Amino acid sequence: MKKAIIIGAGIAGIASSIRLRSKGYDVQVFESNSYPGGKLASFNLGNYRFDAGPSLFTMPNYVDELFDLFGENPKEHFAYKKKDISCNYFWEDGTRLSAFSDKQKFANEVKKKLGVPTHRLLKYLKKAEKKYNLTKTIFLEKSLHKLSTFLNIDTLKAIVNLNLFQIGKSLNDVNEKELIEPHLVQLYNRFATYNGSSPYKTPGMMTLIQHLEQEHGTFLVEKGMVDIANSLFNLATRKGVVFKFNKNVSQILVENKKAIGVQVDSKKYYANYVISNMDVVPTFNKLLKGQKKPNIVLNQERSSSAVIFYWGLKKEFPSLDLHNIFFSNNYKKEFDSIFNKKEIFNDPTIYINITSKDIPSDAPKNCENWFVMINSPNNESQDWKKIVQIVRKNVIKKINKILKTDIESLIEKERVYTPKDIESTSQSYLGSLYGASSNSKISAFLRHPNFSNNILNLYFCGGSVHPGGGIPLCLLSAKIVSNLIE
Ligand SMILES: Cc1cc2nc3c(=O)[nH]c(=O)nc-3n(C[C@H](O)[C@H](O)[C@H](O)COP(=O)(O)OP(=O)(O)OC[C@H]3O[C@@H](n4cnc5c(N)ncnc54)[C@H](O)[C@@H]3O)c2cc1C
Repeated sequence: MKKAIIIGAGIAGIASSIRLRSKGYDVQVFESNSYPGGKLASFNLGNYRFDAGPSLFTMPNYVDELFDLFGENPKEHFAYKKKDISCNYFWEDGTRLSAFSDKQKFANEVKKKLGVPTHRLLKYLKKAEKKYNLTKTIFLEKSLHKLSTFLNIDTLKAIVNLNLFQIGKSLNDVNEKELIEPHLVQLYNRFATYNGSSPYKTPGMMTLIQHLEQEHGTFLVEKGMVDIANSLFNLATRKGVVFKFNKNVSQILVENKKAIGVQVDSKKYYANYVISNMDVVPTFNKLLKGQKKPNIVLNQERSSSAVIFYWGLKKEFPSLDLHNIFFSNNYKKEFDSIFNKKEIFNDPTIYINITSKDIPSDAPKNCENWFVMINSPNNESQDWKKIVQIVRKNVIKKINKILKTDIESLIEKERVYTPKDIESTSQSYLGSLYGASSNSKISAFLRHPNFSNNILNLYFCGGSVHPGGGIPLCLLSAKIVSNLIE
């Protein structure tokens, strides 16, 4: 039986292990943490439970697919339900908007609250759908770095429609031109943050990001986001994948330009294939010292990071749902700060996610578990303790203003997570959430490939490589890797 070794049990590492196992490989996964899931982790603070990282779940079919590989019924192992409202939006000028999953209902809401004719939004969504459908098979489901990807009918169709992709304009330019109304522009600009980029830099092509949410909906995982990782980890172990925790891989063994295994502590483990789910930058810098590096790709600007406050609150807020966003008054300045000045803007956009609304066991009665996230620059050894103090004050001030409350007096449990913590718990370079940013035309499309150009039998999966960060794309990277190996 051919052997595969996977470095890291992040969601893409687990998914790769399942796919390779389903093809008959003997699979071992080495994970430096004591738990599976990487960024998809969870913890308790007293009687509150929190998902540590991702909070928004789209495209559950990519999880279900992994159970299908073994003829198992996903519903018996992994439960989720679609949300009617994907997000509640709040602006300081008093504007409120609920993003209904149903497109027509949302267009009606936008007309009622913002005075935008329904046909304008529906046309924008239709165009994004077209972009998505044209690129799905070439960009998301295959390696962009293989000639065969480009020699097919889907690519020809995409090339013929090149203008539609709006690559020469920024996402903000496209949104201003097509949506016009400032609140709506800001709302659709925010989808750039789904891959940690700035809407003022990332290409107009990225209007397709929202399509995943708007067309297919957002979902609540009934046991919390961490169950995505846990249920897949359980599937992998049921099927015979071997996980070794608290095992940090220190080197990828290479002989005659071929990956032959890994080194963990002083022990060597051999395999026919090595797949790194570690961020691609430290994979090259730490595990492949002395090997040729793909410098252009490795030097790409990193995606944004985050500061997160996890609050156990002694009150319930009826106006909030699972996902809520309180917008910054000056969105452009916020992104300029993050990517240029490398600091957190003093009036940040605030993402508040509350699972106890739908999962009552996540908080005591009449209480809520708030995940409060602010976009931030990467970890470049800033004084995070000092930054957190300032940000906390500004965030509380803004929440108090919008919800007309005194939030600080309600906080009974608190934990704070900084980009430094994200870096140390997942080994993501500079604490970036999604690998490279898509702040340039090139980086938006040419992330590091899912295989090595110089070392045979070495593959890459996860948020730092093609097709990108976020759970659905990480799951797709696993699919691409297992197809490439086959
Ligand atoms: C705060 C936050 C919010 C986010 N929000 C969302 C969201 O709402 N929706 C969404 O879809 N995505 C979101 N993301 C992004 C999403 O979490 C990631 O894209 C995805 O989980 C990355 O998975 P991965 O497979 O690349 O591995 P990671 O989760 O990065 O895990 C890599 C694993 O490899 C291990 N490892 C690394 N190096 C070694 C080594 N040398 N030896 C052994 N093990 C090693 C690490 O310990 C880790 O467990 C968010 C991320 C964060 C941090």
